Amino acid sequence: MFENKKIFIFGMAKSGYEVAKLLANYNNEIVITDSKQQDECHIDELTNLGVKVVITDNQLDLIDESFDYMVKNPGIISTNPLVLKAKELGIKIVNEVEVAYNFLPKNTKIIGITGSNGKTTTTTMIYEILKIKYQNVFLGGNIGYPLSQIVNEISDDSILVMEISDHQLCDMYNFKTNISLLLNIVPAHLDFHKDYETYKMMKMRIFNNHTNRDVAILNFDNEEVVNNTSNLISKKEYFSTKKKCQCYLENDCIYYDNEVVININDIKLKGIHNYENIMATILAVKEFDVNNDIIKKYLKDFGGVEHRIEFVKELNNRYFYNDSKATNNEATITALKTFTTSTILIMGGLDRNIPFDELSEYMNNVKLIVCYGETKEKIKEFANKNNINCISVETLEQAVRKAYELSKEKDTILLSPACASWDQFKSYEERGELFKKVVNELDR
Ligand code: ADP
Repeated sequence: MFENKKIFIFGMAKSGYEVAKLLANYNNEIVITDSKQQDECHIDELTNLGVKVVITDNQLDLIDESFDYMVKNPGIISTNPLVLKAKELGIKIVNEVEVAYNFLPKNTKIIGITGSNGKTTTTTMIYEILKIKYQNVFLGGNIGYPLSQIVNEISDDSILVMEISDHQLCDMYNFKTNISLLLNIVPAHLDFHKDYETYKMMKMRIFNNHTNRDVAILNFDNEEVVNNTSNLISKKEYFSTKKKCQCYLENDCIYYDNEVVININDIKLKGIHNYENIMATILAVKEFDVNNDIIKKYLKDFGGVEHRIEFVKELNNRYFYNDSKATNNEATITALKTFTTSTILIMGGLDRNIPFDELSEYMNNVKLIVCYGETKEKIKEFANKNNINCISVETLEQAVRKAYELSKEKDTILLSPACASWDQFKSYEERGELFKKVVNELDR
């Protein structure tokens, strides 16, 4: 399918670079373009493989009807003028995952994880638990490892665990999993998709090409998930924190097939949302006969993925958590729901002109907000309106020090900014790293 063809790769970054390298091995004529400057080593490497690399803002003239495919970076919106031109010219538009999928051995078992929230956490747990029992397990997709990068290492008896974003699902056709997880659907990325209906339709593509031998792991508590999957022919397996089903939560215990797997007090991760992620994980790994002892041992130790309500340290009976990934109100609400004791919340960052009012009803345990960054004045107003003590500082480092200075024993000190990081940092990762560094430098 992707041999001896003329292929236009739109968007370079990591996945464009990897897919260009892969396609270069199959005698394809390739043009790759991006408007942003790219890693010089990557450009040299691709050029040596015969790929034409064009870094320019004027991309419209680079494409004509002689191309067979456009491999579009998932972040590029479908109304982009170059994408529209490709469509007009009858060029088939796919993405990196779809291309790499065509090079996978046919018997590789694929687990695909999607949903509005919880993808990375669930994907990580499934991968790490399967890795305890099996050697030949791979992690790929939206989690930072493009499939094109690993496809040549994968064999017929491998298990591939893939995080798939809704952006990636947009241009997938042949891609098929053996097991698909749909964790939840809530309105998100509505700036990218036409409307909520389109967004939901995209999510359903995780079940593309399923037969009745394939498995769909579904959130029984999420009405949108249940309603939108009613016609699926896949074998459905449900998880719920409210009702009995294949995997459920009752009396503080998680049950699988009506047997207790683990008591939630033995699980390091906290919060209902994480119990949902854990139940989805259990259903997935049970398809590979993983026993309860392995699952239990793993969940006792797993403290979460970096920057997502990540436990950092206990210092003088204060508990520090890094939730730098919380770049919007929804994510901060999830964090606030997780902590049921006295909390000092550190908030702030890039100002997107979004009000904080929807956080109000989740502030019961927050005794102090320390705010910083571009949004600090708006956060102060929000705190005043809600009668919450608030102190504003300039930087995250000052915020951490202030929060610690004003804390009491047993307090949780939580960085859950509800804002993007870009006013003072390159990424949420950099922000989370700095938070952890400052916390680790605080004196006993
Ligand atoms: P994703 O990869 O889908 O962005 P992550 O696992 O990275 O999800 O988690 C990001 C944030 O989303 C977490 O810090 C938490 O606030 C929230 N979250 C995680 N899992 C869930 C869930 N199942 N339901 C709702 N929110 C969740």
